[in-house]
Amino acid sequence: MLIIACPYCGPRPELEFRYGGEAHVARPVDPSTLSDEDWGAFLYQRANPRGLHAERWRHVHGCGRFFNALRDTTTDFFAATYETGTPRPAGTPADGETSR
Ligand SMILES: [Zn+2]
Repeated sequence: MLIIACPYCGPRPELEFRYGGEAHVARPVDPSTLSDEDWGAFLYQRANPRGLHAERWRHVHGCGRFFNALRDTTTDFFAATYETGTPRPAGTPADGETSR
């Protein structure tokens, strides 16, 4: 079983968590000024890298809080987890690079 480290509760089994999409997707400051194409891109276009990817996760059967994680999409290895609203940990590889 995969163990995921919730930044608030510590290591827990994967069954307690749910994937929440790509992390660090900022909502436009004034959506009414965007073109339909740009608004559609904000709503639906997401990165799908092979390798490390910054993602949102939620500890649904624990504290219930969202957090960010760097997960390798090819191996499911979690390189780091960190609180929502904090920047990506310094020194971690960029999206699409391998974790090991
Ligand atoms: Zn938690």
